[in-house]
Amino acid sequence: MPVNSLWGVGGERAAQLARLGILTIEDLLLHAPRRYEDRRHFRKIAELTEDEPFTARGTIVVQGLKRFRGGNKSVFEFILDDGSARLHCRWWNLPFMEKYFEVGDEVFVFGKLVETKPRTMDHPETEVIEGGEESFIHINRIAPVYPLTEGLPQRWLRGLIWRTLERFEDKVGQASSLPAPAKPAQSFLTARADALVGQAGSLPYFPTRANAIRMIHFPEELTDLEIARRRLALDEFVELQIQIQSRRKKFEALSKALPCGGDNRLMKPFLAKLGFKLTGAQTSVLKEIRADMGGAHPMRRLLQGDVGSGKTVVAACSALMALESGFNVALMAPTEILAEQHFRNFKNWLEPLGVKVEMQTGSRKTVESREPRAESQPRRSPSTLDPRPSTLFVGTHALFTAGFDLPKLGLVIIDEQHKFGVAQREQLVRKGNYPHLLVMTATPIPRTLGLTLYGDLDVSVIDEMPAGRGRVKTFIRTAEKLPKVWEFIREKIAAGRQAYVVYPRVEEQDTANDIKAVTKEFDNVQRALAPFKASLLHGRVKSAEKESVMSAFRANQVQALVATALIEVGLDVPNATVMLIENAERFGLAQLHQLRGRIGRGAHESFFILISDAKKPEAQARLKILEETNDGFKIAEADLKLRGPGELLGREQSGMPKFRFGNLVDDLDLIRQARELVAKNF
Ligand code: ADP
Ligand code: MG
Repeated sequence: MPVNSLWGVGGERAAQLARLGILTIEDLLLHAPRRYEDRRHFRKIAELTEDEPFTARGTIVVQGLKRFRGGNKSVFEFILDDGSARLHCRWWNLPFMEKYFEVGDEVFVFGKLVETKPRTMDHPETEVIEGGEESFIHINRIAPVYPLTEGLPQRWLRGLIWRTLERFEDKVGQASSLPAPAKPAQSFLTARADALVGQAGSLPYFPTRANAIRMIHFPEELTDLEIARRRLALDEFVELQIQIQSRRKKFEALSKALPCGGDNRLMKPFLAKLGFKLTGAQTSVLKEIRADMGGAHPMRRLLQGDVGSGKTVVAACSALMALESGFNVALMAPTEILAEQHFRNFKNWLEPLGVKVEMQTGSRKTVESREPRAESQPRRSPSTLDPRPSTLFVGTHALFTAGFDLPKLGLVIIDEQHKFGVAQREQLVRKGNYPHLLVMTATPIPRTLGLTLYGDLDVSVIDEMPAGRGRVKTFIRTAEKLPKVWEFIREKIAAGRQAYVVYPRVEEQDTANDIKAVTKEFDNVQRALAPFKASLLHGRVKSAEKESVMSAFRANQVQALVATALIEVGLDVPNATVMLIENAERFGLAQLHQLRGRIGRGAHESFFILISDAKKPEAQARLKILEETNDGFKIAEADLKLRGPGELLGREQSGMPKFRFGNLVDDLDLIRQARELVAKNF
């Protein structure tokens, strides 16, 4: 129901509410207060201290506007008296404030003291106390203080919400049965979560949704707030889980799996020649994958494993299962460099087994354009009937652009998926005939995010590192120490190792000239590391050049790679054992951890050196976490707490659901509960 159907909401008010995103009565009731004021007890003005903001209540005894010379500048001031002392309240250059107050008005003010002699507040929030029928909504209680927009009075909005609650409260959450999953209604009137929570009967600590909504606006005690928030958050998570799980069910009903369980024909010789034994974690993940790919529904699996845990080999084995079964496989990487690297690896691994490996990126293809083939060929068991070798296509998202048709696609593997949006993922899989999907990520995703973003994927975790890795030591240093650091790096290079040097930006920007930019710093690095060779790599380097830089680095013709965070994903050069990061405070923790994963890949000891002059203790504390732990999950959790989900996942991440009450940092238990509730009852 639109909000202007409420009594007292005319065109102007409706427009103001719309600016706050309030279009319907549901929106209005879910418009959460910004803070609360306990108007049952007031501290005396005489007792106020400077440390914290507070609310005072008193009567205006004097007021006046002073204009300064020229008339452009002014200060409006009133003095509030509560019997214990006086409080000066000032507004600079807002002369119209004069109209809102009169001597004798009783007023609440909320703010922080800027002076104590006399006690003074600048620009406090105010609310004039009025008598009348509805005054109980505003005083002698814990009063909600809402986010407002210009021209919308706090008292008016509070009154509106009170009256709307009175009128609609009994309609909240009265749904007696669950609506069909096909109707993804978000209305508070349907309140599917209420029905579920009620049904479950096992959640005694949750108020009804109606009660929770009242408590969020007009709590009796401040402790009500968290109880109510959790209930409303649960509802949000239930909504989301219903969407996720019904999408998944629909998908399973629609799609029949291609038989890709494999017969070990290629896998056996592959593992024999690999040169190392799979870790226990790799083996058990492969078991899960095999069960999926030989199962009734197309696989939808997320493979999580810290950097260096060996996801590529797992991808190769999964690919072999599909290839053995006579299907083609597509492997997508987020960058061309990474696609190149996979192409080379997989060629070495798979071509001796008779598998064709082809490459397609924006700038390069080894695939000849082929006649589009009919998708609806009769399915056979091609491993015995089809003598042609199957093909593995490696590429970036260009692989899936129009005009390129992947025949007989049995498995799609997406590496480093967080660089692809959720929407892209969906689109991609729709291209094929419901191929199996394996999504790999090295960003350890905190459970809350995992269940929210990838709730429709099964999750496998590689929680064991291959043995025999050199250790990585992490150091934090100030820029002052750079000469010593360069000396250290030269020593390591002289001993045969290689190094990465990483900067936050490609080019110097006027606004942030303290950020060292890779193009400008390149000369300095070359000088600092002479006579050794350094090369430059960043997003604006042309593809062909990127490739030649990378192969020179791989062959140790170049000893240092000077780069942006571009190198964060997937690069595998085991001889590179030093990484120097300048302006380290500019990077997210998860990103730094990714970068750190580029070293420590061989048997030699590795060194991760963070240069930061950040003065803020928070910035220092953040970096310290990297010194303390090498556990990607712990780091991701810390990053989530410190910077929130948006930053953790990268700004380009799309499809991140927004919550009014849910909190992805703290609500893991609720997310789990919602998931179970929906799985059991829906
Ligand atoms: P990531 O999980 O970060 O993608 P990679 O797949 O690139 O890790 O593996 C990192 C390195 O570890 C590679 O050089 C790979 O060949 C090696 N590796 C993978 N599995 C094992 C194993 N079981 N034993 C020893 N080395 C392994
Ligand atoms: Mg990888």
